[in-house]
Amino acid sequence: MNGAPRAAAPGGGPRSAALYAEACGLMPGGVNSPVRAYRAVGGTPPFLVRGEGARVWDADGREYLDYLGSWGPLIAGHAHPAVVAAVTETAAAGSSFGAPTPLEVEMARAVAAAVPSIDMLRFVSSGTEAVMAALRLARAATGRRSIVKFDGCYHGHADALLVKAGSGMMTLAHASPGARAQPGAALPSSAGVPDEVAAWTRVVPFNDADAVRAVFRAGGEIAAVIVEPVAGNMGVVPPAPGFLETVQDLCRAAGAVLVFDEVITGFRIARGGAQGRYGLKPDLTCLGKVIGGGFPVGAYGGRRDLMQMIAPLGPVYQAGTLSGNPVAMRAGLETLRLLDDAAYRRLDELGAALADGLAGAARRSSVPLVVNRVGSMLTPFFTAGPVTDAASAQRADVDGYARFFHGLLARGVMVPPSQFEAWFVSLAHTAGDVRRTVDAAAAALAR
Ligand code: PMP
Repeated sequence: MNGAPRAAAPGGGPRSAALYAEACGLMPGGVNSPVRAYRAVGGTPPFLVRGEGARVWDADGREYLDYLGSWGPLIAGHAHPAVVAAVTETAAAGSSFGAPTPLEVEMARAVAAAVPSIDMLRFVSSGTEAVMAALRLARAATGRRSIVKFDGCYHGHADALLVKAGSGMMTLAHASPGARAQPGAALPSSAGVPDEVAAWTRVVPFNDADAVRAVFRAGGEIAAVIVEPVAGNMGVVPPAPGFLETVQDLCRAAGAVLVFDEVITGFRIARGGAQGRYGLKPDLTCLGKVIGGGFPVGAYGGRRDLMQMIAPLGPVYQAGTLSGNPVAMRAGLETLRLLDDAAYRRLDELGAALADGLAGAARRSSVPLVVNRVGSMLTPFFTAGPVTDAASAQRADVDGYARFFHGLLARGVMVPPSQFEAWFVSLAHTAGDVRRTVDAAAAALAR
C-alpha cells in the first residue's frame, strides 16, 4: 500500500497515473508540496512535461490552459522567450559562485526602486525563508517574542507560522476535520510544532480591526504583526477599506514591526505590490514568486535601521548557499522588465473578464458563486458569500468546487486543485483564452 488513490479516479491519463503510482512509493503523497496531490478534489494529478505561454502539456500529451502559473511566479507565462534566453546565457557563464555577483546588485536596485519601503534587502531561496528571517529580525529589534498573524493567511512552513495557516493547511484541514486549531487557541496546525513555539503566535480573524485592537490592548509583548495584505491562501480575500491602515497605526503606536508578506502580491497586483496599490508603508516586506520569474527566490527587506541588524552588520544571523543565485536573479530581472504600466492594465483587464465571465456563468446555472479578485489573482468561492475572512471562506461548498475543478480539467483548463487558493492570470493569456475558459466553466457548471 503506497497511498495512491483509486486508478479510476479522474485527473491524469495513464502515463501520469503510472508516474503517480511510482511517485507515491518514493515521495510522501507522490509530491513535493502537499496540495499538488489532489487530495482536496480527488483523483490523481497530471504530471506536466512542458509549458509555453498560457499552456501546459502533461505526460499523456494532453494540453491545458493554465491558471496555476506555478502558484504565482509565472506572471509572464511559461518559458517566456526573453526569460529563457537570459537564464540560458547566465547559466552558461556559471550557475552559482557563493560569492557576490553584479546581478544581485542589479536585482536589489530594481526591487528597491519599485518598493519605496525597502531601503535594503536580502535575497533568499524561498518565501518560507524570507518570512522566517523577517520575524527573527522583528523579534531581535523589539526584544519581544509574540507574533500576530491572521487566520487563513499562510506564510510558509516555519514552526511559528503553522498556526491556523491557509493554503495546504486549510485544504487538508477540510479533508480531515479536527486537524485545524480551535478558535482562540494558539495551537499548532501541524504535528511536530512544539506548543511552546505556537504559544508565541496569536491569531486573529482577517479584516477584523477590532480583534487586532483587542490583541494590542491585552498587552503582551508583540514583536510583529504579519499579514498578507491581499490574502491569497484562503482563496483571494481583499482587505476591507481601512483594515490595513488600522493595523499599520496600531503597530506604530505599540512599537511592533509591521511585516507585509507580499510573496504573492509583490509585483503581482502592482509594481509596488499591495503596499504600492494601497499607499502603505510596512517596516519589513517579504517577497518571492514573481521576483524569481519561475526560479527559487525569496527576499526580505525594509527599513535600513532594521536591515542593518542582519549579519554581518548586526547580531541577527541568516545565510544561504544559493542565496542571490545568478540564474534566479536574471530570471527575476527579465520578468520585472516586462512589467510596465501597460502590462498591469492588461493583467487587470484579463482578470476582470475572467471574474465577470465566471460569475455570469454561475448566475445562468443558478449556482451560488462569489468571485473575489484583485488584479490578476482571483478565486471563485462556491458560496453566496461574501467572503471576507477564513470563516466565510470555509462556508464554501468544497465538493462543488471539486466537481467544477474536474469539469474544467476534463475540458483542458487547469486551475488550483483546492477551493482555498488563488487563480493566476498571466501576460501570456489572451482575451480568447479567457472566453474559452468561461465557456468551459459554463459547461462544467451546467446542471
Ligand atoms: N508567503 C505567502 C503569502 C505564500 O503564498 C507562500 C507560498 N505560497 C509563502 C509565504 C511561502 O513561500 P515558499 O513556498 O516559496 O516557501
